[in-house]
Amino acid sequence: MQGAREVRAPRGAERTAKSWGAEAAKRMLMNNLDPEVAEHPDDLVVYGGSGRAARSWEAFDAIVRTLDELEPDETLLVQSGKPVGVFRTHEWAPRVLIANANLVGDWATWPEFRRLEALGLTMYGQMTAGSWIYIGTQGILQGTYETFAAVARVLGRDSLAGTLTLTAGCGGMGGAQPLAVTMNEGTVLIVDVDESRLARRVAHGYLDEYTTDLDAAIARVVAAKDAGEALSVGVVGNAAEVFPELLARGIPIDIVTDQTSAHDPLAYLPTGVAFDEWREAAAADPEGFTHRARASMAAHVGAMVGFLDAGAAVFDYGNSIRAEAELGGCERAFAFPGFVPAYIRPQFQEGRGPFRWAALSGDPEDIYKTDRAIAELFPDDKPLHRWLDKAADKVHFEGLPARICWLGYKERHLAGLKFNEMVASGELSAPIVIGRDHLDSGSVASPYRETESMKDGSDAIADWPLLNALLNTSSGASWVSIHHGGGVGIGRSIHAGQVTVADGSALAAEKLERVLTNDPGSGVMRHVDAGYAHARDVALQRGLKIPMLPE
Ligand code: NAD
Repeated sequence: MQGAREVRAPRGAERTAKSWGAEAAKRMLMNNLDPEVAEHPDDLVVYGGSGRAARSWEAFDAIVRTLDELEPDETLLVQSGKPVGVFRTHEWAPRVLIANANLVGDWATWPEFRRLEALGLTMYGQMTAGSWIYIGTQGILQGTYETFAAVARVLGRDSLAGTLTLTAGCGGMGGAQPLAVTMNEGTVLIVDVDESRLARRVAHGYLDEYTTDLDAAIARVVAAKDAGEALSVGVVGNAAEVFPELLARGIPIDIVTDQTSAHDPLAYLPTGVAFDEWREAAAADPEGFTHRARASMAAHVGAMVGFLDAGAAVFDYGNSIRAEAELGGCERAFAFPGFVPAYIRPQFQEGRGPFRWAALSGDPEDIYKTDRAIAELFPDDKPLHRWLDKAADKVHFEGLPARICWLGYKERHLAGLKFNEMVASGELSAPIVIGRDHLDSGSVASPYRETESMKDGSDAIADWPLLNALLNTSSGASWVSIHHGGGVGIGRSIHAGQVTVADGSALAAEKLERVLTNDPGSGVMRHVDAGYAHARDVALQRGLKIPMLPE
């Protein structure tokens, strides 16, 4: 691709930009495109099908140049990966405001999006790709670990020991699944059409082994399940063929999910198309390819429903596969739930969700120090301690060293203030950036995922993410973004992100306290408004002001 090059974020305490806000945004944009982090860096694709960090290499260069020149009281506006303007604002304002892939409702379809993308007018930003806070596969690992821990609890088990999980898709996000299952002591078989994806996860320690031989894979995982051994095995194959085959053979599978890039039918390989011909076939006839992909997803999901009928725990893992399979002719696609209503919503009511940070020093020691600080701040949170111990041991850093854990309302700001103090005192060798995923309680409207089956039926109301972005902008975040279509695809979600820098200054402390209180607070607010009693209790106990608090 024209202008492709190898990108790596600068490390250390010296900056070339005029503020840490601008320097941090620049480093995190670059970090998203680091070959250790991005799935297809030459195409500026970070993860999640075609989730990009910048619209073109020319736009990337212009963003980097502008951030280096940006005054501490100026704000850069980025429209779908292209820098479009710099305005005088003030020091409390974000240094960057981003809007990605937004389309007016009636035009919010994949064909229209692709038409505009081909004209060079827009870019798919996914969630943390176009908002510059992707931290590699670890980012999803904690959420996946939490989800599988919740699956074990719902099954009445202490862990997944003795269970066999079947899943597919071992890419940027999906690659976390095998390690998340083995961290929960279970056995897992993961199917991917792309051998290089499986090989990469083995190299990074996220997958134990892989094979091209389905019989060998089955023998390995069934023996491991029977022995109660934590083991992950990858198998090269098409899920639309392998899932029905495993169902027909009656393999004793307890848990079934999927993380292929089903949200984008062109990123899902249909049966009958050779792996090597995938890109060409999708480009030559997108509509015909979409049709075939949906038909294959119908077979894939049909088998998932078959496993459900046979007694397995089956859930959609946030990639819209049920909706696509339904379009492909699978009538019972929605027979199984999404993972949020099934396992995550109780946490969302407390504003809990994936909270992440990265060390701009590039020094892993800085992250280990923050791990210890978090453990000391929350001494009674046993699952958090278990996660931090396992993460320190198992997580291979990709790009800038980073960490993720789940914290909620009136917890996150404590971590932010502590990190800022550690930067100020010199205990950490450079500033820390603090952000979050868009798998979040208050900043997402996504009826097939984060807001599926809301108590009051407000699944598709998208005022909430817009209010969240406005609130974070007003509270002192370093960069704020509003996206469309992340996770589940164009037309199916509106969501917002924020990142705030702990540079050790007194001003940063004030900003961090507000942003990291208000951002998760908006999640509690959203769930109070939807009528969740636990969210109401959290609001009352933790002092969140809600003008029309239900009795
Ligand atoms: P990715 O594009 O990096 O990886 C997708 C993988 O699916 C690839 O390795 C590809 O080879 C494989 N694949 C495609 N068709 C296949 C088929 N027919 N059979 C077997 N394998 C096939 O995407 P990703 O970043 O891993 O994201 C996966 C999905 O999860 C996306 O839809 C994304 O939107 C969604 N997602 C979920 C969450 C969550 O929290 N649950 C978060 C972010 C994204």
